[in-house]
Amino acid sequence: MIYIYFAFKNNNPLLSLFYNFEKFYLIFMISFEEALKIVENSARLIETVRIDFSQALNSVLAEDIRSDMEMPPFDKSAVDGYACRKEDLLSEMEVIEIIPAGKEPKKVVGKKQCSKIMTGAPMPKGADAVIMVEDVEEISENKIRYVKDKVKDNICFRGEDIKENEVVIKKGSLIKPQHIAVMATAGCVNPLVYKKVKVAVISTGDELVEPDVKPAVSQIRNSNAWQLMAQIMNMSVEANYIGIALDTEESTREMITKAFEENEVILLTGGVSMGDFDYVPKILDELGVDIKFKSIAVQPGRPTVFGVREKQFIFGLPGNPVSSFVQFELLVKPLVYKISGYNYEPVPIKLPMGKDYIRKKSTRLSWLPVQINEKGEVIPQEYHGSAHINALTSANGLISIPIGQTILKKGDLVDVRQI
Ligand code: AMP
Ligand code: MG
Repeated sequence: MIYIYFAFKNNNPLLSLFYNFEKFYLIFMISFEEALKIVENSARLIETVRIDFSQALNSVLAEDIRSDMEMPPFDKSAVDGYACRKEDLLSEMEVIEIIPAGKEPKKVVGKKQCSKIMTGAPMPKGADAVIMVEDVEEISENKIRYVKDKVKDNICFRGEDIKENEVVIKKGSLIKPQHIAVMATAGCVNPLVYKKVKVAVISTGDELVEPDVKPAVSQIRNSNAWQLMAQIMNMSVEANYIGIALDTEESTREMITKAFEENEVILLTGGVSMGDFDYVPKILDELGVDIKFKSIAVQPGRPTVFGVREKQFIFGLPGNPVSSFVQFELLVKPLVYKISGYNYEPVPIKLPMGKDYIRKKSTRLSWLPVQINEKGEVIPQEYHGSAHINALTSANGLISIPIGQTILKKGDLVDVRQI
């Protein structure tokens, strides 16, 4: 759905329309889905680098990992017990050898014989099962008897988990601890990964002081930048704090220019609405940034700006903390992951509403902070609007309410995106 957005600084909207004719699309508020598509389609992959596998957690693989051997590499015992022939289970058996893990068996198990074997040790020739130590009675020093009637093989067969040269982790995987184990097993000690994206944060606003300063009258503490820094760090990419830009064109331009020197993604907070001191879109234009959109039909976060300068990307996020948090989740995260080579698909969980929720206006797609209670129900959190700094503190999810919908009834199933 499209809305004409007349809020230009210029008092005459018609003049403004005419002046911006070549950028006519910018005066439209685009849908959230469109905005996400634009962001994702703009992404350009970052370069790759080989790193030590033990340092690869949360990196994205830039190659398929193949195993250089079978797993297990030999038939091995899955339990501590006695390797024997199934056909001898009703008889007493003679223990002919003890096979520890890491040692090769020396003897062949023959009729009415067995070898004591430890978990992970190679199976001796002649045996076709391992009976568990708990299911065995020791008759004398080297004689045993099976005391149960059913038997499992208890053998891990050679190559049953991984074949030689098989792809064990696919290119584009975000590396988790369990992948590190597979790399170790496959002997892949120097995987090719995408470099870590560098993301810079700039706050804008004369009213801001840093958190260690007691604000004077008319000032507030800079919360957004530190929230964004933490969101970036949560993704295990590089977070670089640039500082607070004053509400002057010079200061804002200087900080943005500095951020562009090193970083692939730049996040500005504040200065993107239509206040008298909100210069960001103008400066971005001057710096050669191709502004893709300035306004999204989403709540919170309508005045979100996104621009591209070759392989660098800049977001102007709204100054209100809930808006900047939500737009990071919805737009910045997918972009950073896409640049990192990871096709991020948030997996929402479907849960019932724990109470009714009613909203007055339904002209924008709305994202609402919610908490999942112990019964697995979705409870909307007290939320006074995008400036409500602690609305998210006990929220563990966001739900969306489509354009045109005003009511969610208790029991309605909703998709919860975990935060
Ligand atoms: P703006 O988008 O600059 O018009 O800011 C919108 C609102 O967000 C104003 O009330 C600002 O004071 C507030 N705000 C802007 N930047 C920050 C920040 N870094 N931390 C906390 N609040 C902010
Ligand atoms: Mg401001």
